Amino acid sequence: MLAVYCDAGGFESDPAEPPQDPPYFSTGLNPFLEEAQLVSACFFFNRLQASGGDVSHLMEVLRGFYKEKPPPFADADDLLSTIDNIPVGGIPWQGFSCTYQGDLPANAPKWKTKEYSVWYRDPLKVMEEQIGNADLSKEMDRTLKAADGVHRQLQDLMSGDWSWEQADILAQDPANHGAMFAPIILGSDKTTVSVATGQNDYYPLYASLGNVQNHVRRAHRNALTVVGFLAIPKADREHQDSAEFRKFRRQLVHASLVRILASLKPWMTKPRLTYCGDGHYRRVIYGLGPYIADYPKACLLSAIVSGWCPKCAAYPHHLDGDPGDAVLRSHRHTRYVAELCDGKHKRMWDSYGILGDIEPFTSYFPRANIHDLLAPDILHQLIKGVFKDHLVTWIVTWIEAQPDGKKRLAEFDRRVNAAPHFSELRRFPDGRGFKQWTGDDSKALMKVIVPAIDGLVPRGMVCAVSAFMEFCYLARRSILEDRDLDKLDMLLEEFHQEREIFRELGIRDHFNLPRQHSLRHYRLLIQRFGAPNGLCSSITESQHIKDVKEPYRRSNRNQPLGQMITTIQRTSQLTAFEIHLRARGILNMPLPWARHTGTIIIESLSYPSRYGDTCAEINIYLTDTTIVARARYQRSLLYLQLQLRLPLEALLRRFLYEQLHPNPSEAVELSDCPFIDPLMHIKINHSVRAIFSAPSDRSNIRCLRQEIIRATPNWKNTGPRHDCVFINDAPGEGRCGFTSLGVAQVQLFFTFEHDQITYPCALVHWFRTVGDEPSSTTRMWKVKPLYNGANQRVQSIVHANSIVRSAHLVGVYGEQFLDSKYTYQRSNTAFKSYYVNKFVDHHAYEIAF
Ligand SMILES: [Zn+2]
Repeated sequence: MLAVYCDAGGFESDPAEPPQDPPYFSTGLNPFLEEAQLVSACFFFNRLQASGGDVSHLMEVLRGFYKEKPPPFADADDLLSTIDNIPVGGIPWQGFSCTYQGDLPANAPKWKTKEYSVWYRDPLKVMEEQIGNADLSKEMDRTLKAADGVHRQLQDLMSGDWSWEQADILAQDPANHGAMFAPIILGSDKTTVSVATGQNDYYPLYASLGNVQNHVRRAHRNALTVVGFLAIPKADREHQDSAEFRKFRRQLVHASLVRILASLKPWMTKPRLTYCGDGHYRRVIYGLGPYIADYPKACLLSAIVSGWCPKCAAYPHHLDGDPGDAVLRSHRHTRYVAELCDGKHKRMWDSYGILGDIEPFTSYFPRANIHDLLAPDILHQLIKGVFKDHLVTWIVTWIEAQPDGKKRLAEFDRRVNAAPHFSELRRFPDGRGFKQWTGDDSKALMKVIVPAIDGLVPRGMVCAVSAFMEFCYLARRSILEDRDLDKLDMLLEEFHQEREIFRELGIRDHFNLPRQHSLRHYRLLIQRFGAPNGLCSSITESQHIKDVKEPYRRSNRNQPLGQMITTIQRTSQLTAFEIHLRARGILNMPLPWARHTGTIIIESLSYPSRYGDTCAEINIYLTDTTIVARARYQRSLLYLQLQLRLPLEALLRRFLYEQLHPNPSEAVELSDCPFIDPLMHIKINHSVRAIFSAPSDRSNIRCLRQEIIRATPNWKNTGPRHDCVFINDAPGEGRCGFTSLGVAQVQLFFTFEHDQITYPCALVHWFRTVGDEPSSTTRMWKVKPLYNGANQRVQSIVHANSIVRSAHLVGVYGEQFLDSKYTYQRSNTAFKSYYVNKFVDHHAYEIAF
């Protein structure tokens, strides 16, 4: 699979040849007359999402004012028809309808006579558009990714065993030599649009080119495309649970998928000459890639009975056993079972959990096996499944069963909300019930639950949650190595031991839960498909806003699907046109897009990574304050010192000495430190911006993330806010993790000048580490405020560059309940000791271990 360059005739060409123009080459802005017209079309259609009436009205007004120059468009119809005439990105939507085929008695239920429409656009053209997308071109693996260096790094799909295996099979046919393997990643997920008049369900099918790298799939608005809307048959109450209706519903999904994907099938066994985004042609051979689906959907797609594992044939009452004992499912296994059971569906159902009357769609395509292709799903299996539906529910069940249950539950809520400020840390509204939780709520609770339950519930429960959290955070890393997989195994074993507490305390009888069982397949899945965070259903879920919710909102609600499809079509035409024009240097300014697109969706990192081998770039910028402080600081050192009652001059002199002598051999006398002018000007900043590489967290397309660290006397009128930070304590000593970091609370950010050098720095209060390893219960390090002999907080001035980023410290609450007057604003000073919360985001998890 070398993905060799070809010319437009399909003959191998020299890589040194210059890039060629795409087949739909156009030189100008046609159908737009000028750039201003294109920009205004985008502004009306994408940014404002203005109604037709409003657009026509504005054009009319403009025409009245500027008689000599006509408005950009005659009216709304002119705007829309111009967009429709864009020569690229217009893959047409097609439809087909399905009806029940079978006996129709005279009084047949309505679902049997109804026609169901399925809408789709040619997935071959969609894939070709992604392959030819100049925007994605640089972040695409056209060949397999081999291990570089000593450790294999599992990251993008093309680094996994599955891609290598597919390439080996394809290489057996000499006709495929030199071709590029292009897997299509599919995902489908029902979503509901609620409006005042009721609910509308939609069933979008998404597709993404498997060669696109994970961070791009997570961050880029064009790396995932809606290719279809599946039908959702509905029956009345009497029939909705009937075997006949359920079978029809299942068959409809499989038949629709076979039909939609049909155009790709011929090109799964022979290569097709395709224009690539880098300006060269390649021979591309397609294959069905991983399928992103939650558990009910996975059962449906793999024709497995609910309660069984879609990946292996473990018995439902034996799901917490070792899957090493259970055979992995495949279409061959299903055929073997069918023979064994004499084709009797009931026996296949009872003994193997197989729906014998459904033929999974993958069996119609070469080299595809749905059981193998079901992707790991962090959102549904780990976050909504094991964490929210299992662990949190069990803990709440235990708390409620205690004599002081109500009081304890209130304390749990209070502790969750007592966590200090941190970027992207949400606060829960009062009284939010667990039942109404969204995926985002669960993610937010994961950040703070461990310190909150410590001391409130039996120690074993805290251990179970912290072991699971470690598993979850490790599985969500954007790069995994073999030693991480070994660690995953170890953590899973620990989690299995720790969760026994729920059985011992009578909360659970068993752990035969499909979603907990799925954890056992993670190692294999990561080896096969790379890092799970590039395939997670949170990617398809976040796409619903752009491809379902917004187009729905723009429709007139009457037969909305047809209108939604037109909106999606026009949006994709404008997107493709922008990429096309930009790649050719025709368009100078960015087009206005709806505000939600282009920004990032999911979590994910790597400052000194766990093993200290990749050190990311970290910058601290001092920003001028935008916050109006009630208390004004004095501007000269002398008066500031009096105002703050701090020995600032002495601290500054020591700071300067350290700057000039980076490795002082012993403690230095103040009289040996440089002198400074007491009337020297000091510029105070209320915040700094830290920028660091965090590919596993919410970050931009270059994996950079920024956060604001604050030290201000009045934040948003809620009183003082002094964030805590990690300080690079011992740079260059080869240590990594928390032992190489110090923790301090920032009292003041400021800059001053000495000998014509400007020093950005921070006055900090230090914490000291407790013990020489993290707590065995919460798996987090503990720190305590550091005091000197005179019982005063130890403080010093540090250079802003030694700050790594903000640190989240959560009080060690223990068994004591918070007093009712307690507010989170006091949380950085109110406790005797603190946990260094490594679960607050992925970057923290990578540096504070
Ligand atoms: Zn299994």
